[in-house]
Amino acid sequence: MIPTFVFGWPTGKESGDFLALDLGGTNLRVCLVTLQGEGKFEMTQTKYRLTEEQKHDEGQKLFDFCAECLKTFIDTNYTDGEGKSTLKPGETLPLGFTFSYPCVQERIDHGELIRWTKGFGALNTEGRDVAEMFRNSIAKYEIPVTMTAIINDTTGTLIASSYVNPKTKIAVIFGTGCNAAYMENVKDIEKIKSLGIDDKAQMAINCEWGAFDSFEHEHLPRTKYDVTVDETSNKPGEQAFEKLISGRYLGEILRLVICELIDEGVLFLGQDTYKLETPYVFETAFLSLMESDPTDELLMIIGIFTHFFAVETTLAERQFFRALAMLIGRRAARLSACGIAAIVSKMGYLDEGCLVGADGSLYNKYPGFAERVHEGLIDIFGDKGRNIVTHHAEDGSGVGSAIIAAMTKVRR
Ligand code: ADP
Repeated sequence: MIPTFVFGWPTGKESGDFLALDLGGTNLRVCLVTLQGEGKFEMTQTKYRLTEEQKHDEGQKLFDFCAECLKTFIDTNYTDGEGKSTLKPGETLPLGFTFSYPCVQERIDHGELIRWTKGFGALNTEGRDVAEMFRNSIAKYEIPVTMTAIINDTTGTLIASSYVNPKTKIAVIFGTGCNAAYMENVKDIEKIKSLGIDDKAQMAINCEWGAFDSFEHEHLPRTKYDVTVDETSNKPGEQAFEKLISGRYLGEILRLVICELIDEGVLFLGQDTYKLETPYVFETAFLSLMESDPTDELLMIIGIFTHFFAVETTLAERQFFRALAMLIGRRAARLSACGIAAIVSKMGYLDEGCLVGADGSLYNKYPGFAERVHEGLIDIFGDKGRNIVTHHAEDGSGVGSAIIAAMTKVRR
C-alpha cells in the first residue's frame, strides 16, 4: 500500500498539452495528451516494443532508451515543415512519467524502486531513485522536457477515469501484471502520519496488490502448477496474487497442465511435443482465442495447436483445453473481484455504488472477463454487488499521467 503523493481527484477542468511516457510491462509508449477540460481529451501516441535484453541489461541503459524514444517523438511532433523546432528557445514541455513498478515515494517527482516485477530485472536499479535516473537520461540527450510527476499506471488510470466520470473510485490494471489504486483519506494513512499533511486531504494509494500473500502464501489457495510458475519465475515467492491473475502467467499455467499430461502419457502420444516444452510459449492470448472459438469442431484450437506447436488434437482434447482455459480465466477474474470487494468494503462504497476503471489487454480482450468479475462481486456482496461496475478506462495510464502533471502544475 504505497502513498502516491497524488492529492485528491481532478476537477475535470485541467487543460493544456502534456507529454506522458509510459514504461509498461511489454511496451514503452510516448503520448502527447491535450486536455480540453470538461472531462475531455485528445491523444497521439507512439509505441515501442521492449526487448528481453533491455529488461535485464543496465537500468541506466533502459532509461536512456526511454529518453531516445522521447526525443524522436518530440522531434517528430514539434517540428515545422522546414524541419525547425516549434518550441521557443528555452521552452520545456511538462512530462508525466508512468513507471508501473513498486516505488517508495517521498514526493510526486521521486520514486525509489522497491523491486522489479513483471519479468523485469534491469541491473543497478532496485533501491535507486528512478526519477533521478530518468532525469539523467533526459539531460544526456538534451530533451526539452520537465518531468513533474512519476506515477503508477493504476494511479494514472484512477485519475483519468475520474476526469471522464467522477463516479470512478477505484482503478485496476489487468495487463502483464495486476494492480489497483484508490483514493484514501490522509488521516487514515499511517505511513505518512509524521509528515503533518492536512488531515482533511485525500491521497491516492497504489495498492501493489499483486504482492498480496507473497512469501508466506498463507491466504491464497495455490495449485501445484501455481507453485511451479512461482518457483521457476525470476522472482520466486514474490507477486503471489499477480501470478494467479495477470496476463504474463495464465498461458504458462495452462502450458504446465498440458506438459504434466504429456509426461503422464495422457496427451499427444506418439507425437513430438518439444515445441510445448519451452516456458511461456503458450500465450495468454491463446486462452482468449480458445474461449471465443465459435465452431463445434473448435477449429480455432486446432489452428493454435497445429500452427504453433505442430501437434494434432482430438475433439475431446480440444474441449478439455477449452474447459481448462475457462477455469484459469474464471479464477483470475474472481480473485480480482475479491480485491475490488476489499477496497469497496474498506471505503464503504457498496450502498452508493461506484465505477471501477479497468484497463489492460486481459480486461479488454479476454472474452467474458468483465462479466466474470461482476459475477464474483455479486457472489461476495449479493444483489448489492451490482452497484459496483467495472468499465474500460481507455489510455488511462498515459492520460492520467498528463492530468496529474497538470494537477501538479496547479499546486506548484
Ligand atoms: P502492459 O504490458 O503494459 O501491461 P497489456 O495491457 O497489453 O500491456 O498487457 C500485456 C499482457 O496481456 C501480456 O501478458 C499478454 O499475454 C496479455 N494479452 C495480450 N493479448 C491478450 C489477449 N487477446 N487476451 C488475453 N491476454 C492478452
